Amino acid sequence: MSECVIPTLTSLEVVASKSVLPGSWKADLSNLKTLDLTLPVTELLRRTTSRLPQDVIDALVKGRDAEEEGSRAFNTLNDMVRNINLSDGQVTPLCQDTGSIIFWVRHPYGLSQRAAKKQIREAVVQATKNVWLRPNCVESLSGKNSGNNMDPFHEHHPAIHFEEWDRPEIEVAVMQKGGGCENVGAQYRLPDAAIGAGRDIKGVRKCIIDAVVKAQGQGCSPGILGVAIGGDRVTGYEKSKELILRKLNTANPDPKMDAFEKELTNDLNTLGIGPMGYGGNTTALGVHVEEMYRHPASFYVSISYMCWSSRRGTMTIKTNGEPSFD
Ligand code: SF4
Repeated sequence: MSECVIPTLTSLEVVASKSVLPGSWKADLSNLKTLDLTLPVTELLRRTTSRLPQDVIDALVKGRDAEEEGSRAFNTLNDMVRNINLSDGQVTPLCQDTGSIIFWVRHPYGLSQRAAKKQIREAVVQATKNVWLRPNCVESLSGKNSGNNMDPFHEHHPAIHFEEWDRPEIEVAVMQKGGGCENVGAQYRLPDAAIGAGRDIKGVRKCIIDAVVKAQGQGCSPGILGVAIGGDRVTGYEKSKELILRKLNTANPDPKMDAFEKELTNDLNTLGIGPMGYGGNTTALGVHVEEMYRHPASFYVSISYMCWSSRRGTMTIKTNGEPSFD
């Protein structure tokens, strides 16, 4: 009989005591020209790489506890919990693949995006030096690794999305998107005769089930799926990734879509794929769906698949200038 591991994360006080950010650090949001995001973003990366969000941990534990004790599914999910405890305690990456690094920055008027981009890139270089991130940025054709997670040609990595908003706070969200789960993402163009999917919600459902069946365990299931209905080939995929940032225990603001998400998650968990494809009832932790406008001639369903090691985090510089991490 295997031991049932309890998630035992270090306290927030211990996390704070290991911070690279001095306790006295404070931004002056009235003078955004003086703002330097390098240290707070480095701290965000340190936390994100070694500590899974609580909602993901809760979903993994719930999945494990619903599996038959001693089964491969139970043991695999139990090992994931053990992995979570070790990484958090030792501040080491949750997985050897620390993913592609994607940022979403929301900021008030007056922030220089050029300066912020430079600072965020420097934070990624620092996190790579500290071995919180693996150098994951290689030249496509030669396979040569840049060594510091920087795309030296066109600055495509790390990917940074900026949005100006009306609020005074600054919010930086990050996702470490594993390569294995990225490989099993999929985009469908409806109608799709091969899977019998038309341009309606039933067709969307068929696309999602098809993508998960094709992925099997190769996206390191149980997965979290972001699904964009509509958009174009670029905006659909972008939106599908952003949807993975939503916490698992939050409802879709559209009640109909919320019901669709819940039903679909239950259905995916009857496929028998299970954690890492070893069989079982825990194939998906959640599905997040959003509808976008589209060109009348095009109907895309874009699906991003996030592995169990769903590393995401948000750093907010509050109105009083203090940073907070979630
Ligand atoms: S898909 Fe996720 S869990 Fe699997 S190897 Fe990549 S980062 Fe790690």
